[in-house]
Amino acid sequence: MTTDQLTFQDPVHRFPDITPPKQHQSEPGLDAELIPQTDRGEDSYRGTGRLEGRRALITGADSGIGAAVAIAFAREGADVALSYLPEEEEDAQHIAGLIEDAGRTALRLPGDLADLEFCTRVVEEAASGLGGLDAVVNNAGRQIAIERLEDLEEEQWDATFDVNIRAIYRVSKAALRHLQPGSTIVNSTSIQAYNPSAHLLDYASTKAAINNFTKGLGQQLAPRGIRVNAVAPGPIWTPLQVSDGQPKDALPEFGKNTPLGRAGQPTELAPAYVFLTSTESSYVIGETLNVNGGTPSP
Ligand code: NAD
Ligand code: MG
Repeated sequence: MTTDQLTFQDPVHRFPDITPPKQHQSEPGLDAELIPQTDRGEDSYRGTGRLEGRRALITGADSGIGAAVAIAFAREGADVALSYLPEEEEDAQHIAGLIEDAGRTALRLPGDLADLEFCTRVVEEAASGLGGLDAVVNNAGRQIAIERLEDLEEEQWDATFDVNIRAIYRVSKAALRHLQPGSTIVNSTSIQAYNPSAHLLDYASTKAAINNFTKGLGQQLAPRGIRVNAVAPGPIWTPLQVSDGQPKDALPEFGKNTPLGRAGQPTELAPAYVFLTSTESSYVIGETLNVNGGTPSP
């Protein structure tokens, strides 16, 4: 029997309890080389018309959570512009192919979101390539674990803030020229915003900033009919984790300390982004939807 995200299932056993082997990829990492492979909903996500005709820009759309969101958006009826780094072309082409299989447009826009000029250009190219823009998913992020504050260099601090929060400010600002009433912005934050790990000082700080920015901008844009929300994932198996996102020794235990007892798969995040982008969430603004396997969050 083919199951999809709407099939009645036990969440403990919906996906295998994985024990990833110790492995390393250089930043940003590829889904194509991840062991074990992730589930981005390729064979399971079923669209139900929630985003018919929408035009979405998704950053970090080549892999992991962003890729699962891109697949879901396309199957829900949206055309999708994918932002990613040039080194991720292989992953991006794979996801673009799945979007086209769903009968939707996939626009590939490689570039570095740490660059102001690119943050503006990616929005303009998405809007001109899709004939407008009414959904933005600010999902790109970098996470590099550093054990000791003495080893946390200025360059890393700046790079993490540039990609994780400054790009959200820049992309959102550029997008406002295009977003009409009814449009949405969804930001990827993290459980790290409230439960910071000792080795993720810069990363966790940006995630707290994203939550705060979301709540402030949500209030500012609500009267203009533009809704801003966030999704806070818990431990999700993606290339972020093996490209220095976690200490290598921690990989086999990844996600096992959640109440559900296993790491999440990227496709388990997609319905949260679909919900916050769809008009069905019209009264939901400045909210952070936690998708973390049961760890209590504020
Ligand atoms: P991922 O590596 O698959 O996705 C991150 C993406 O960010 C990359 O694919 C890359 O395209 C993009 N990116 C990084 N640096 C960039 C740059 N300089 N310019 C442009 N794009 C850049 O990993 P993921 O886990 O799917 O991460 C997606 C989001 O989810 C991130 O914001 C991450 O912080 C957040 N998140 C992940 C987890 C988790 O456990 N995986 C938990 C909480 C939050
Ligand atoms: Mg990637």
